[in-house]
Amino acid sequence: MTAIAAPSPSLGLSVLVLNRSFVAVHVTNVRRALTLLFRDLAEVVHFEQGQYGAYSFESWRELSALQAVLEDPEHDWIRGVGFQLRAPRVIRLVECDRGPRQGLRFNRRNVFARDGNRCQYCGCHFPTSELSLDHVVPRSRGGLTSWENIVCACVACNVRKGGRTPQEARMHLVREPVKPKRSPLLSLKLGNPKYASWKNFVDRAYWTVDLD
Ligand SMILES: [Zn+2]
Repeated sequence: MTAIAAPSPSLGLSVLVLNRSFVAVHVTNVRRALTLLFRDLAEVVHFEQGQYGAYSFESWRELSALQAVLEDPEHDWIRGVGFQLRAPRVIRLVECDRGPRQGLRFNRRNVFARDGNRCQYCGCHFPTSELSLDHVVPRSRGGLTSWENIVCACVACNVRKGGRTPQEARMHLVREPVKPKRSPLLSLKLGNPKYASWKNFVDRAYWTVDLD
């Protein structure tokens, strides 16, 4: 693949992946999306001026070159040696076909995203590194490791609560934990104007994708 001049932050941006039938199946990052494009396994799906266009790696590079002249600051660029490539937002797999992954993964990242990185006891926001997961009803009392019994908690609140229930510790939950209807990370992304073009493909309540 063409050499990338410097580590570009744009390589870590998110890209929506559609299957051949234009059904959203996955979210990946720009780095992996470019690999798929370069190997002709995917094409860029781009919506501009009321029209969809599909682009191979080469034609996307040509379009990028044209747009680079205009230097639209709203775009994210990958700068390589002697070329600039616009970061794609949506790609479509042209080979394999699979449906969306079923179910929403229950993991730390999704719990943090559901709770918006907010300690569910004191209500303050924290970076992920300063948050822990808390069993609302402690495991020693038969509390399950589930969407309904796990919340984000800051270290101070977690220590203060100890092995007690919220009632015993006289701590109140900011919000009752529930299983989200769709990927909370995806919901966060959709709130970002950068990913506005995804909405054309993901306006379905049942839609749940995993994010890498
Ligand atoms: Zn707290």
